[in-house]
Amino acid sequence: MSKTRTPVIAGNWKMNGLCVTGCALAAAVADGAAGLNCELVICPPATLLAPVGEVLKSGSIRLGAQDCHAAESGAHTGDIGAPMLADIGCSAVIVGHSERRTDHGETDALVQAKTAAAHAAGLTAIVCVGETEGERDAGEALGVVGRQVSLSLPDGTTAANTIVAYEPVWAIGSGRTPTPDDVREVHGHIREILAERLGGAGADGIRILYGGSMKPTNALELLAIPNVDGGLIGGASLVADDFLAIAKSCP
Ligand code: PEP
Repeated sequence: MSKTRTPVIAGNWKMNGLCVTGCALAAAVADGAAGLNCELVICPPATLLAPVGEVLKSGSIRLGAQDCHAAESGAHTGDIGAPMLADIGCSAVIVGHSERRTDHGETDALVQAKTAAAHAAGLTAIVCVGETEGERDAGEALGVVGRQVSLSLPDGTTAANTIVAYEPVWAIGSGRTPTPDDVREVHGHIREILAERLGGAGADGIRILYGGSMKPTNALELLAIPNVDGGLIGGASLVADDFLAIAKSCP
């Protein structure tokens, strides 16, 4: 991993947690977070952003949301605009997670608009990309991921406002992970696409996270792969000791 890129370990709690359990989990992570050589981000469900933000407010763990609308405000019942997330203390937001691409039909164009909205609100966008199992089996993984990266990032993307997360859809929540060689190949390809899209200097600073069944037992190996600058963690982020063990595996 380049010494110029500080690793990021981000926890995506998805639709899990109530006030008491979520705040206890955030407090347990905060308690164990001293002395890590990575940045931590916790992305609870929208209902827990305020209370979890309160738990995290005196430390360095960043608060992130799991989605935002592409518009700043307006008649969009049930949605949340990026300025509202910033207002409540978020400094990051996940966009384009495969569960949103699948469950809500989100396209690369929409993900690009949401990423631009996040940037405009001063948030770091954690932009997710990844191929399905069928696409990998058909030899299309690099093409699909490369296309998603170039179409999901708006003009104005920088290392300060964007993190890319490579999450093979078939690895999410399945207990399966790609081989280290496959991860190396895709992350190297993402770096090349970023250089084409943003220019070499801009691309070099962008953190590229791996996500999909990362856990304490495989984190060391995955995080040592070139161009893997951290992890986006789902299931294992719901157990403080597991999340912290992954964070301690950062080289
Ligand atoms: C995710 O959904 O972002 C994720 C990586 O999930 P898991 O770690 O559970 O595979």
